[in-house]
Amino acid sequence: MDSGRGASIGVDLPVENRSQPPRHGRKRFHWAMVGFYSLTLLLFGGFSTWDDYRTSLHGAERNTANYVRLLEEHAKRTLEAGDLLLQRLLDRVAVKGAQGVAASREDWEVLAAATAASPQTGALFLLDAGGVVLFTTHGFPADSGVNFADRDFFRAVADGAAEPFVAQSFHEPGTGKVSFAIARRIPGPDGRFAGVAVATIDSEYFKAFYGELGFSEHVAFGVYKHDGTILVRQPMVPQDVGRKIPANAPLLKLMPTQPVGIYRAVSTYDAFNRIVAYRKSDTPAIVAWVATTEEDALAGWRQRLARNSALALASIVLMTGLSLMVLRGIHREEKAATALSALFDLSPLGMIRSDMEGRFLAANRAFIDMSGYPARELTELSHGAITPNRFAAEDARHWQSLLAQGRYGPYEKEFIHRDGWCVPVRLNGVRVTSGDDTYSWTIVEDITERLAAENALRDKTDQLARSNAELEQFAYVASHDLREPLRMVTSYVTLLERRFGDQLGPDGRDFIGFAKDGALRMNRLILNLLEFSRIGRDHQPVSPVAVAEVVRAAIKDLCITIDEASASVTIEGDLPTVSGNAEELTRLFENLIGNAIKYRHPGEQPLVKIGAMPGQDGWWQLTVSDNGIGIEPEYHQRIFQIFKRLHGRDQYEGTGIGLAMCKKIVEQHGGSIWVESNLDHGSRFCFTLPATSTDAGDAPHV
Ligand code: ADP
Repeated sequence: MDSGRGASIGVDLPVENRSQPPRHGRKRFHWAMVGFYSLTLLLFGGFSTWDDYRTSLHGAERNTANYVRLLEEHAKRTLEAGDLLLQRLLDRVAVKGAQGVAASREDWEVLAAATAASPQTGALFLLDAGGVVLFTTHGFPADSGVNFADRDFFRAVADGAAEPFVAQSFHEPGTGKVSFAIARRIPGPDGRFAGVAVATIDSEYFKAFYGELGFSEHVAFGVYKHDGTILVRQPMVPQDVGRKIPANAPLLKLMPTQPVGIYRAVSTYDAFNRIVAYRKSDTPAIVAWVATTEEDALAGWRQRLARNSALALASIVLMTGLSLMVLRGIHREEKAATALSALFDLSPLGMIRSDMEGRFLAANRAFIDMSGYPARELTELSHGAITPNRFAAEDARHWQSLLAQGRYGPYEKEFIHRDGWCVPVRLNGVRVTSGDDTYSWTIVEDITERLAAENALRDKTDQLARSNAELEQFAYVASHDLREPLRMVTSYVTLLERRFGDQLGPDGRDFIGFAKDGALRMNRLILNLLEFSRIGRDHQPVSPVAVAEVVRAAIKDLCITIDEASASVTIEGDLPTVSGNAEELTRLFENLIGNAIKYRHPGEQPLVKIGAMPGQDGWWQLTVSDNGIGIEPEYHQRIFQIFKRLHGRDQYEGTGIGLAMCKKIVEQHGGSIWVESNLDHGSRFCFTLPATSTDAGDAPHV
């Protein structure tokens, strides 16, 4: 890792901003795209809908203008057809005179047949100068009682109005049908007014004609006189017969200046918004109009509007849905990145990203704190630049492993803090390849505290071992040295007894006996203490020990005691081979078997049983049971402490060191010892010893 030491560095990412990709920008851009799409759709849709609306209305206007041309033409042809019949009637009158025609059945038949053959024309009438009907195609002879002198056409024609005169609509006498009429003047021989010839035109004819064209029921039309007198219209109510439309009606206002036109108005009949087209003709003097409804004109447009709106809405919903899905993806990415960033920032472990030359590219807060370098300065440094020289070789070896195997460590070294002192650290790292980019991540653990704790523990252990050794040395030396003056006491008391025994009275001899006894007990105590302090001192190597052998050796040592007490010592089942020190284990069994015999019920044969069973994880549990006096549970712990006895010397001889020695021996072997007992129910001493590795798996070392 020395490769980057002191080199100038090209940093690809500022340390502080290491994990902040521009996700908010992505989100904004995304919504902007959705907004732009929706706006474009709405603008384009709005414009094309408006255009469609205009086109639909223009189309309707064109159609209405075409209809009115048709109606005007038809009205003119209809009036011409009626006028032709009038001409024929006038021709006959010119030959025969009005009275002559009225009296001629032959003329009547001809004219009635011609009228019947003309679908437009209802009937022909011939009136005299007084308005009396002389002739009518309805019947022959005419009913002379009927007089039309009060009709508009009669007066108008009599007054010399332009011909043919178009008369207002009326209910035909006899049939009751609504018709209107055209009339011509009958000149007398002297040229004076001699009567009127009239042809009636059935308004139903117009309606039938328009009905055949299959227009919408909303299409209205009409044929009026120039002054607004209604000749025919659809729809038409009875009151319309002979009526004039109001003088302020748009049609009457427009017509004088524009003979052909188109306008919009709200119908007074059905309140529809209407497109009205009209055409004015001078011969005959009529105006034809057709009105379509905006409702019909825009029906197709409305359908398209509904369909296009639904499509636009669906596409905006779809686009928004897709966007939400994409944004959810971005959100998930963001959360993962935030978690990663938090992990990076909050990790108590230092984290460093560096290039393959060891130059720092990014570092987290923990490493910044650990190294003491501010983020800006770290980007100028490398692993090698802040490592003491003595680690250079090891660094190079690990960096080589990173290049070859993609990972390195864990290993321990030091970094140089910015303030100059060394920080002990534990490193491990991996190589990461992302696209063309290859870099390394290193986890840095500050092990200052761990090392301090380890050192403190090591110091304590050494201290403890030293003081234990000193204590053991002291106990050994003390017990060894104490025996010397004791020996002197014993030998001089014996000398005293031998030389002056005869001169002493019975009390003196008793005192000498007590002194000798005390010296003997003290000697035993010192010997036991010496034995106790020797346990573990010899550092005998641990070896496989057949428990049956050490038990046999212990029984052999105790044979006198066993004989005296007539005790029975039996081994139950097979005894294992354990890992340990044969001499110490013999002493262990000696103590336990000796106690089992010593603490027997008076007058009862002591029965001692020795057994073993496999324990957990490569250990054996061994037991020494007896049928003796037993121990109250409250003393089960106490009896293993040195010098702790439950009985006086007058009851049972002893020093109180035996079980303490047993405990020390078992614990030296890594095991534990305890007793299971109740007063008067015998005792069972249990202890664990490690099995040999071949015997029961891996045994711990003693
Ligand atoms: P001691 O020299 O007194 O035998 P030990 O340490 O061997 O010292 O035993 C401590 C005490 O434990 C004894 O004084 C005795 O009261 C009790 N003890 C030990 N072994 C037995 C046993 N097998 N049955 C009953 N009591 C026992």
